[in-house]
Amino acid sequence: YKAMAMALDAGAGKQASFVLLFRDQTEMRRIDRMRSDFIANASHELRTPLASLRGFIETLQGPARNDEAARDRFLQIMQKQAERMARLIDDLLSLSRLEMKAHIAVTQSVDLANVLNHVVDTLTPLANGLEVTIERQIPAGSVKVMGDRDELIQVFQNLLENACKYGQSGKRVIVRLEEDGNSAGRDVVASIQDFGPGIPSEHLPRLTERFYRVDVETSRAQKGTGLGLAIVKHILTRHRGRLVIRSQVGEGSTFVVRFNAPEGRS
Ligand code: ADP
Repeated sequence: YKAMAMALDAGAGKQASFVLLFRDQTEMRRIDRMRSDFIANASHELRTPLASLRGFIETLQGPARNDEAARDRFLQIMQKQAERMARLIDDLLSLSRLEMKAHIAVTQSVDLANVLNHVVDTLTPLANGLEVTIERQIPAGSVKVMGDRDELIQVFQNLLENACKYGQSGKRVIVRLEEDGNSAGRDVVASIQDFGPGIPSEHLPRLTERFYRVDVETSRAQKGTGLGLAIVKHILTRHRGRLVIRSQVGEGSTFVVRFNAPEGRS
């Protein structure tokens, strides 16, 4: 309040900068709150499998010590919980690395057609296991964008994996790559379309938040961490790419990624 009185005394110009200071603090408080929410969520997500592991260790040391069948079953569950913790830690580390790189511009030219073909090849075994057919609509030549190849692979791997896992009732997924040119430049548009259950519209704006899941049980059953789309968003921000999610309940979802690629086709 003392500072405010001083600012009011100092005239109109200074008042304006004072208002800006307040806005900054509000923004900083918002970021602080987001950070502590994130730490609380991450700790909770790690604690759950850890508590289960501890419970099984106690059971194996005590009541189930001589029960061979129970031991095998419990060890299998423990392995799954340990794998879950490892996935969470990997995703958390990816996010933290991406945050550190957020302001470093991407400078390399990457062939997005090659990235998409690579991702489809990598995920074909998963799709086969889920009886999903992946259809490629990818041009034969190269389609260049500025970017980091490994990060772009991660983006489309996350999106295609989601389409296979959550869209599997539709049994078909289309991976599409198009160029959309106009006088203002050239856009490269990559999309992943599934014909699964779709996502109710009220969830769409929050889908890329860390740990946000439409259905936690389905996500867990599909080995999800709730961080996949947050990672996608971070990578796309660094690439100045835009993600648009279109979804219709009962018809399926399309995740569209648009890059501005002014340097032309090569
Ligand atoms: P997860 O690790 O849970 O898959 P993501 O961040 O990748 O986390 O996705 C967040 C949530 O968005 C998922 O839990 C799921 O509920 C929903 N989702 C993502 N992709 C699809 C899709 N293609 N169809 C239906 N729901 C989806």
